[in-house]
Amino acid sequence: MDWIRQKLEYLRGAEGYVVPAGNGASGRLKETLGPLKLDANENHFIARAWLEELAQQTAGEVDPRLYSVAEIAELKAALADQLDVPPQRIVLGCGADQLIDFLAATFLRGATAAAACLTPSYSFYRIRAALHGATMLEIPLDDDFGFPAEAALRDAAQARLFFLCSPNNPTGRQFDRDQVLDFVDRFPGLVIVDEAYADFAPYQLSKEVRDEGKLIVLRTLSKSYGLAGLRVGYLVAPSPLAEVFIEKVQYPYPLGQSIVRLATKVVQATEKIREATEAMKKERDRLSLQLGEIPGIRVFPSDANFVLFHWRGDEKTLHQKLHDRGIHIKYIGQIAGQTGYLRATVGTEPMNRRLIDTLARLTAEVGESV
Ligand code: PMP
Repeated sequence: MDWIRQKLEYLRGAEGYVVPAGNGASGRLKETLGPLKLDANENHFIARAWLEELAQQTAGEVDPRLYSVAEIAELKAALADQLDVPPQRIVLGCGADQLIDFLAATFLRGATAAAACLTPSYSFYRIRAALHGATMLEIPLDDDFGFPAEAALRDAAQARLFFLCSPNNPTGRQFDRDQVLDFVDRFPGLVIVDEAYADFAPYQLSKEVRDEGKLIVLRTLSKSYGLAGLRVGYLVAPSPLAEVFIEKVQYPYPLGQSIVRLATKVVQATEKIREATEAMKKERDRLSLQLGEIPGIRVFPSDANFVLFHWRGDEKTLHQKLHDRGIHIKYIGQIAGQTGYLRATVGTEPMNRRLIDTLARLTAEVGESV
């Protein structure tokens, strides 16, 4: 039984995804009192009461005795309609995370070739590639957090998959559209453009996917649709790849009926979602402006629903002090060898006000000693 012990030891030593500490604060979120959950880029602009109403309607429509088949086809049709792409290109998953895992398991397992991504970027690409035994080539971002396409073409040439997060998490910038499409043309392997945050940004690439091409777009309902708790993500992939993913890689019944039905209702509520996105963008601009007015803080432009900032002092202490006051933002730490980075999800106006007031006070207190 030595191999069991060895395998478990190996897994114990592997990198895992660290769930942000603020997750203990989920449940009924309050805007002004209680914990502020700004650490996982959830959407605070979709009204909870509206979702509850839709969930109640859904409850009357499901028959839990049956597997979800027709419901899945309906959700795919709704997504295809929104994106104006053929439904046969859509592969649903239990969050975008499951699809990242499936891509790694399918294309990297046992491979001597590697995968590649930019750094810093979403850590789950590296974590899942490692779990399936592949190495991850990490290409540093440009100095201004731009896409170093030439370096990526040169240094990641042998990678089978390139995970390109755009807008990038945690930096927030969406890369230049032509540069990304040119990269897709020139890179020899599959390029997965992770558009988890693209609904908040200037452009989306789903319509650029071609059946004979190498572009796969990864999307989620966790961000712009405010459904992180439902766990629904999807690929827009070349049809031949989508077909085998659905038939051979994904589970026969990947998502539950009530989840799929609720997701479909929300996807169809185009105007509500658009309004929430516009409201978030307004708050993002205001939050960025106010953060930038705090002495010692530098804010980076964002195309997503979060803002990356740099604190000239000890960001670990600042993060801990916010945490002690019930304000949970994401600890980033180092980028390109420089410490001081933190990331905050854009909240509603009262949420952001509390964050800004607390940050202004805390940075003024510790400002002298750094
Ligand atoms: N991609 C990126 C860039 C993300 O930030 C996240 C959420 N943390 C995901 C994918 C995963 O999204 P989902 O909730 O759909 O699993």
